[in-house]
Amino acid sequence: MAAQDLENIFADILERAKALDPANARKWFETLTILHLDRGSLGIGCPDEATFQFLRDNCKRSFTRAAQQITGHLVTVDFHLDSHEGTLRSAAEDQRVQPGLRLHPDYTFDNFVVGPSNRLAHASCVAVSQSLGSTYNPLFLYGNSGLGKTHLLHAVCCEAKLRFDGAVIQLLSCEDFVNRFIRAIEEGNLAGFQSQFRTVDALVIDDVQFLRQRQLCQEEFFHTFNALYHNGKQIILSADSPPAEIASLEARLISRFNWGLVARIDPPSYETRVAIVQKKAHLRGLSISDETAQYIAWKVSANIRELEGALTTIYALAISEAGQTQDQRPKTKDLSLESGVLSLDSLELAQRALGEQGTGHGARGPSITDIIDVVSRHFDVRLADLQSKKRSQSITEPRQICMYLARNLTKHSLEEIGGHLGGRDHTTVMHACSKIESAKGRNPKMHALLSELTRQITQTTYT
Ligand code: ADP
Ligand code: MG
Repeated sequence: MAAQDLENIFADILERAKALDPANARKWFETLTILHLDRGSLGIGCPDEATFQFLRDNCKRSFTRAAQQITGHLVTVDFHLDSHEGTLRSAAEDQRVQPGLRLHPDYTFDNFVVGPSNRLAHASCVAVSQSLGSTYNPLFLYGNSGLGKTHLLHAVCCEAKLRFDGAVIQLLSCEDFVNRFIRAIEEGNLAGFQSQFRTVDALVIDDVQFLRQRQLCQEEFFHTFNALYHNGKQIILSADSPPAEIASLEARLISRFNWGLVARIDPPSYETRVAIVQKKAHLRGLSISDETAQYIAWKVSANIRELEGALTTIYALAISEAGQTQDQRPKTKDLSLESGVLSLDSLELAQRALGEQGTGHGARGPSITDIIDVVSRHFDVRLADLQSKKRSQSITEPRQICMYLARNLTKHSLEEIGGHLGGRDHTTVMHACSKIESAKGRNPKMHALLSELTRQITQTTYT
């Protein structure tokens, strides 16, 4: 078969594989190469180890199905690592593959959106990746699930690996560490375990809260920590809470975890969420309108993993509708599949995908400005007064009501709400919210007023 024909078939296979598995579709599929397609076998070359592992672990099925559908034959698919010398090796033979280091191709610094909620964690990770062992040691990241801890740990390793050729880096989950320790004991090979972990240049352990209730393992970890630390080797840890709040963690470990830098990651603000949705769309080779990105960010606020899930849901719906014939296709106007870029520009599509019914076009929830408009009209006060330092009851109450409603009707952070109302800090907003909340419980008039204002605000924004 002519080379060009092979390329075309391969492009079709990639498109089909993306459609079959939207959650794992990536823009970097464009960097894959077709090595051969003959005798029922398709060989695909991957530019690096991270993409190779991602494809092998997540995409084998969708690629196989795609290849079979496009060629009409039974085909098996194999991924290979393109080596620098232009020859092919399996991952096991490749010298660049460090056993135990498995990096996710998406989790790089480039793909990480920095905002107020994660600025310190990001900056410290960048610093550590540039000089292992000599800036913050240990570096301890903590925050709730889905806020980017694992992403940052992978990004540090990826960057350090590029910068320090030959550096030995161990990245593993705490569970993995515990299991390997238990296995080493069962097999009577504690020395092997110790030499594996005490001789690295960087030890990166994710979710160390799993050390709780593992007394023996804490003991071993303590000695590993000391050995690395005293040799100037880098230690990076993540957990769901700060060291002192990890249940039944030994005091001497808590104290060591606090020796370097402890960086907290907070839930992202609305603006950061919008930027993350755009970044993730780009990573999947999707074009997305600002309006749709804002809608997704408004709709999903808790956890970034859910933001990605929402994007996948919309993408899947877009693909299924793009696959239908013109006359079957629903009213989605701006869904286009031009030059391989699937566009998610239609807000209406996003609303349908995320189960938002009955909202008018352009709906993306009330803004703080909508809230301030309605409240200031009701109380007949001026915006300038709401934003001023005035503390008379006639101004304070509407101001606090604005804060309360903004907290309940928008996804803005306390800081952002305070910013709109005269640059007040988050504790002031928090205080206002609890004050109005308790007034609402005590006073039926306040209850009725809040319901009426809410009705007016949502009416102006959803119609
Ligand atoms: P955690 O380990 O804190 O539970 P993860 O690192 O697994 O969270 O992040 C969950 C998902 O959210 C990942 O796909 C990750 O890429 C994404 N994510 C989190 N924070 C960001 C960010 N600031 N920019 C881009 N993607 C992010
Ligand atoms: Mg994690």
